[in-house]
Amino acid sequence: MPFAPVVGRFAPSPTGPLHFGSLVAAVGSYCLARRAGGTWLLRMEDLDPPRVVPGAADEILATLDHLGLHWDGAIVWQSQQTEAYVEALARLRDKGLVYECACSRREILLSAPHPGEEGPIYPGTCRAGLRPGRKPRALRIVVPQEQVCFRDGVFGPLQQVLAEAVGDFVLRRADGLFAYQLAVVVDDAAAGVNQVVRGADLLSSTPRQIFLHACLGTPIPAYVHLPMVLGRDGKKVSKRNDPDKLEHEPCGSRLLSQALQFLGQNVPAGLLGAAPAELLSWAVLNFDQIAIPTAVDGLIVDDFSL
Ligand code: GLU
Repeated sequence: MPFAPVVGRFAPSPTGPLHFGSLVAAVGSYCLARRAGGTWLLRMEDLDPPRVVPGAADEILATLDHLGLHWDGAIVWQSQQTEAYVEALARLRDKGLVYECACSRREILLSAPHPGEEGPIYPGTCRAGLRPGRKPRALRIVVPQEQVCFRDGVFGPLQQVLAEAVGDFVLRRADGLFAYQLAVVVDDAAAGVNQVVRGADLLSSTPRQIFLHACLGTPIPAYVHLPMVLGRDGKKVSKRNDPDKLEHEPCGSRLLSQALQFLGQNVPAGLLGAAPAELLSWAVLNFDQIAIPTAVDGLIVDDFSL
């Protein structure tokens, strides 16, 4: 096999300004791509218009720039990739893997035997065709009973039986929007991404994405999931509940050091307080993947204050 240069990426959703959790994903993916001499791409996941907050994408870009996290090439906007999603969906349909589903959320809740990774496991009601008089809503993909196995760069070997964990999942939603799972796979493949570094809240989505890559015949990237950042209350820090939004943070240097320390990196005392560019140059040369903590349930950010 010829040597393949690393292509990493950061893929924020513009549902609010960057918070510490997404900064950790940005720093981790940046350092792992740059450390390998690879490229680091930026994709704005503005797939879901009702969730997009006006101005959030610009704020995210300004924060990345302020911290010296410079990306390569043009930004990919998911809202502009619809044609690629349509084409991928057509390929999956041609393979006989996709079916129309008429079930409402309420019907699924009532008929689903047990909860899965994200809500009830779809029981396959419409797999054999729609009952007379029912209108198609979403499009789903048939999942196999086999295990999807992969080795995560932090969490080690993992496996999931899609049929037991999620069931036939949605590719195009009832509102006509493409599902995140399809979009991320199509976009990563189109950009040649071969290293996906992101928060561990997406670990349970990874088997679905590996399955979609396999169905579409696109190369499966390496996956590195970073421990989730939890707030003082032990809950995942999100754009909605992070009290310390980064746009109010004047000191990029402190934030970068905190993110690196959160990722288990031993920032030399002499570099604490150094300019972001200096900290990042050190991090790119010294970033140690082995040191990333394997905390499955996440880590409380306060434990990493300087
Ligand atoms: N857009 C997702 C987020 O902001 C990340 C998706 C990914 O990295 O695959 O949480």
